[in-house]
Amino acid sequence: MTDNSIAVETAAAPVAASLTRHKFRPKPPTHLADMTPEERKTVMKESGFPAFRVRQLENHYFSHLSIDPDTMTDLPQGIRRQLVEQFFPPLITKVYSRQADNGTTIKTLWELFDHTKIESVLMRYPTRTTLCISSQVGCGMGCPFCATGMLGLTRNLSTAEIVEQVRAAALLAANGGLAGGATRLSNIVFMGMGEPMANYKSVVQAIREISALPPQGFGISARNITVSTVGVVPGIKKLAQEGLPVRLAVSLHASNNTLRDELVPMNKRFNLEKVMDAAHDYFLATHRRVSIEYALMRGINDQKINAIELAKRINHYGDNWAHVNPIPLNPVEGSRWTASKPEDEKQFLRILNDAGITATLRDTRGNDIDGACGQLAAKYYENETTK
Ligand code: SAH
Ligand code: SF4
Repeated sequence: MTDNSIAVETAAAPVAASLTRHKFRPKPPTHLADMTPEERKTVMKESGFPAFRVRQLENHYFSHLSIDPDTMTDLPQGIRRQLVEQFFPPLITKVYSRQADNGTTIKTLWELFDHTKIESVLMRYPTRTTLCISSQVGCGMGCPFCATGMLGLTRNLSTAEIVEQVRAAALLAANGGLAGGATRLSNIVFMGMGEPMANYKSVVQAIREISALPPQGFGISARNITVSTVGVVPGIKKLAQEGLPVRLAVSLHASNNTLRDELVPMNKRFNLEKVMDAAHDYFLATHRRVSIEYALMRGINDQKINAIELAKRINHYGDNWAHVNPIPLNPVEGSRWTASKPEDEKQFLRILNDAGITATLRDTRGNDIDGACGQLAAKYYENETTK
């Protein structure tokens, strides 16, 4: 376990093994976004340049989303390239993008410095533009219905590898890359590959840089950033103390421990009661309503009894502290679970609503381009290994 991770040992041995595997891998090059403002100045001075050049670079990066030396006309021409090479090493390179939903969804597969792959998905809605980002290469949590889970964990992303996904998408949106013309990237969800709480330090530093006002950050309000976790309780507790008003999403997927042990192996370490307690404490500490993610799987967790059990668990803590996002399962090839019947989805929603709980069926943007968690990268790895 590196100091960058929260201890998430589990009864499930393969999960524990894959959590430590990344320890011996080479690290990505250090980028401006990996450094604190003080470290940036130190590196700048060590390279023989005055500290005020840092502010100029920060302004290009965070305010103008640029790492192109030709745009940096406030820097002497002779040093632009050297500074760009030193502070902005290329960390993510596009492999390909796929569009869906008439060009309002763009999913991109990125290659990292060590040839590993991650993905991010940009989605335009009438009132917001949301980017779904990855926090790890693969994931060690082993949820059997999830394409990323099937890959296992390769390594954590660095802060800058996370931040670069945001910069690239913000630039694409600003340059009119989405159907409907130029727009501002307004929301971020950590719902791509990986478990954000297992890469806690880099994720929180990235959130600070994404939310800080330019030129220290991109100025995307922390209130519009969602961290989705499988239920790593120490991570939820720590996040509640950061003073960041980010939204917490907890991937529950089951209404009792027997079922959750099967669907979410991490439940053997942090069971439903512990996860729900931590989620409610998060609400108390931050006054932000918690989202409960619930992938509806036909005949498994989508029956009347499941909705009743779930409602009871939520209402145990009182009113209005959580809302439920049921999402039809996007079936992963070869898995034994499939999406719910529409009438069961409706029944599930109705029971929650009747119990006074707000629940909205999460949309399935980009399903036709393998939009769900980790599926594009998982497909890529699959093709690579079957070539
Ligand atoms: N590891 C974190 C965040 C990444 S997963 C987590 O589990 O919360 C983002 C969301 O996608 C989670 O709610 C996850 O359970 C869900 N998900 C994973 N595979 C899915 C699938 N095949 N269909 C629908 N949702 C899925
Ligand atoms: Fe990891 Fe989340 Fe997928 Fe589970 S659902 S394997 S925690 S990415």
